[in-house]
Amino acid sequence: MSQVGALLALVGAALALLALLAWRHSRRQRQRLGLPQGRVVSADTGGWRACARPLYSARYGLAGKPDYLVRTKGALVPVEVKPGRRAARPYPSDVLQLGAYLLLVEEETGRRPPYGLLCYAEAKFEIPYTSGLRQSVIATLQEMQRLRHARRVAPQHHEPQRCRHCGHREHCDDALA
Ligand code: SF4
Repeated sequence: MSQVGALLALVGAALALLALLAWRHSRRQRQRLGLPQGRVVSADTGGWRACARPLYSARYGLAGKPDYLVRTKGALVPVEVKPGRRAARPYPSDVLQLGAYLLLVEEETGRRPPYGLLCYAEAKFEIPYTSGLRQSVIATLQEMQRLRHARRVAPQHHEPQRCRHCGHREHCDDALA
């Protein structure tokens, strides 16, 4: 094999290893939080209506506004659109955010939505509103309430790119970039 060929094979192997590590990290995070995987669907965009006002739950001290709400089989389904996101699987953080909207819809309507929709640039995922997802959202909210009174909160990630786009970067002692 030529030197160039050997180099390309080495780069290819390194990229494959990186992809495997990223996939394992995402899978571990998903398993730890008990988040559902979601399945790819072709959602009809006709019945979507923009969410006019934030949804609110006094019980959980939570407010939020999904991009759209769609009525299906008597239930309201929240839809979150991430036009810049390209991924074969939903990010755990996006599933958790959608889970918060599902909880808010349940609180406001008194009916538990069967699922929510997460729309990336090239795929739409139907995320079932499982008991595990509901519990993960509530546990995360409780953890956030607890940390609100902490004097210092360590960052929960090691991703400089997140700090680069963060609005708190100027006055954050832990910024990674
Ligand atoms: S700048 Fe600070 S607050 Fe913002 S993402 Fe980075 S560590 Fe978190």
